[in-house]
Amino acid sequence: MEYEMEYEAVIGMEVHVELNTKTKVFCGCRADFHAPPNTNVCPVCLGMPGVLPILNKAAVEASVAVGLALNCAISRWSKMDRKNYFYPDLAKNYQISQYDLPLCYDGFLPIDGEEGPKRIGVTRAHLEEDTARNVHTIGKNESGVDFNRSGVTLLEIVTEPDIRSAQEAFNYLTGLKQVLQYLEVSDCNMEEGSLRAEANISVRPKGSEAFGTKTEVKNVASFSGVQKAIEYEIERQIAVLREGGRIEQETRGWDDRKGVTLLQRTKESAHDYRYFPEPDLPPIVVDEAWEDSIRASLPELPRDRKARFEESYGLKPYDAGVLTATKAMANYYEAVLAAGAPAKPAANWVMGDLQALLTDGRIDIADCPITPEHLAEMIQLIEDGAISGKIGKEVLQDMFTSGKSPKELVKEKGLEQISDAGELEGIVAQVIAENPGPVADYKQGKKKALGFLVGQIMKATQGRGNPKLVNEILVRELSKE
Ligand SMILES: [Zn+2]
Repeated sequence: MEYEMEYEAVIGMEVHVELNTKTKVFCGCRADFHAPPNTNVCPVCLGMPGVLPILNKAAVEASVAVGLALNCAISRWSKMDRKNYFYPDLAKNYQISQYDLPLCYDGFLPIDGEEGPKRIGVTRAHLEEDTARNVHTIGKNESGVDFNRSGVTLLEIVTEPDIRSAQEAFNYLTGLKQVLQYLEVSDCNMEEGSLRAEANISVRPKGSEAFGTKTEVKNVASFSGVQKAIEYEIERQIAVLREGGRIEQETRGWDDRKGVTLLQRTKESAHDYRYFPEPDLPPIVVDEAWEDSIRASLPELPRDRKARFEESYGLKPYDAGVLTATKAMANYYEAVLAAGAPAKPAANWVMGDLQALLTDGRIDIADCPITPEHLAEMIQLIEDGAISGKIGKEVLQDMFTSGKSPKELVKEKGLEQISDAGELEGIVAQVIAENPGPVADYKQGKKKALGFLVGQIMKATQGRGNPKLVNEILVRELSKE
């Protein structure tokens, strides 16, 4: 692409993630917005006059955990602020957020960059409350406001403008989501809005230090949508500059169907939020002891687990990446190993045949009908030569649908490999007798004929003949005559 010679993109991300605290951030209402509209509400989250918010301790702990996982410093002392604006989804006309003193700051997330590993700086992660949800009923001439979401714990994570391409933005979002899921602080469901990503995008002549004017792309429903929107926006901005135009600072939306970004709001209509300190909440004090106890409770994070899988199990980086993509997958794999399976065959079965069955059935590995112990048992049957790898695939399928143990299935269906020399000798003799042509060919030096005869024996044993033994006996018998 020609423009890459002249311009580079400068991208920063803002991600809002709903933390799965049981109750809301400033009141005791259940944080469950799947409930019927306006059932998880109280005077605090409805924004009634005169009520007082109380900060949820679990929300602070989850936020600090995210901050630590993103290598942030944690503020010993921070505070909440009011962000003022008027909108139907915000009954008290301000959102309680954090302005100049965020809870977490100055961190980074390592990602795979365009030119190798790189760190994306995390400027800040601050705690705030979610707004209510406006519901517009199509076809009916009315709108409603559902306050179940009002006051749900929200963490906003802002990066430095360190991202240089749409692919890097995608890698950052994927890496961030992985960390959040390993921490089990959010379901990160983009379709339901528990994770929302916005990108600030500008371009500048390559080699330039100054930033170009940025646009903000909002309301994109998927990571791949964000990636496409950024790609589009980079090209659009470069085209404007090429034609001698100017980039206007504005907010743009993404039309996934048309594959274009569209103007939503210009800078002239941007809000002045008149931030000021929230007078109804005391400062948040996280002392060293509290920070340390949260740090001690952190699980092994995705990058560390991947490195350990490579190191301890001798897996290739790609395989280790697949097996640690989700915590559930990594846990399943390690449970198979704990049940006695060797690392490499276990990796191949989990990533290959088992993953295919799960994908087909749209089943998450956390709900896998095959227990790790059963999978380990099946791998052991193959390792011991009791069944062939090919039969193993059949058994796996049956285990998946029946939930039965592999030993049980092998016995039930008579699938044990025939490793009894006497039994195989009889079958070999019969195949030799029935195929004089290929036998003669083999004896005249046509080695290909051997493959045909092996095939006939495997057919006669329904694939159960021990291949090594079948070969040995056949070659021996053929050389006799
Ligand atoms: Zn409430």
